[in-house]
Amino acid sequence: MADCLFCNIRDGKIPSVTVYEDAYVFAFLDSNPVNPGHTLVAPKIHCRRMSETDNAMLAQLVAAAKKLGDAVCAAMGASAYNFMTNNGADAGQVVMHLHFHLIPRFSGDGHRMWKGTPYAEGEMEKIGKMIKKTVGV
Ligand code: 5GP
Ligand code: ZN
Repeated sequence: MADCLFCNIRDGKIPSVTVYEDAYVFAFLDSNPVNPGHTLVAPKIHCRRMSETDNAMLAQLVAAAKKLGDAVCAAMGASAYNFMTNNGADAGQVVMHLHFHLIPRFSGDGHRMWKGTPYAEGEMEKIGKMIKKTVGV
């Protein structure tokens, strides 16, 4: 996609610091990291979100992230990492080329990804039923 930022990074048309590449996946440092070493892992084939890619490609992405998660932690001296994606604009996706964030974490770094609120009485069971229906289980 000519006007896609990450396709242009993949093609070297926009400078980036690449940390990993194979036949399916490329990974580079986020230019505005949550913590140093924050890495973006993306498929080489352009797609916008999870539902547009196939399971084989997702397996390649997760396998690359597994390898990279350990590498990023070892390089940065991090004890843990978050592995997540913003899937769609309302979830915070800004760059519409599927990517996973790999964020090295340090004890006491203070980052909170989200804040939970408990369900009201009976609500969890009701919502569980709704989702089971749409997932086809
Ligand atoms: P999203 O919100 O779409 O999940 O995340 C997009 C990420 O891309 C953000 O964390 C942002 O900092 C990063 N980003 C945006 N523009 C660039 C860029 O030109 N180069 C690099 N390396 N990262 C970028
Ligand atoms: Zn793209």
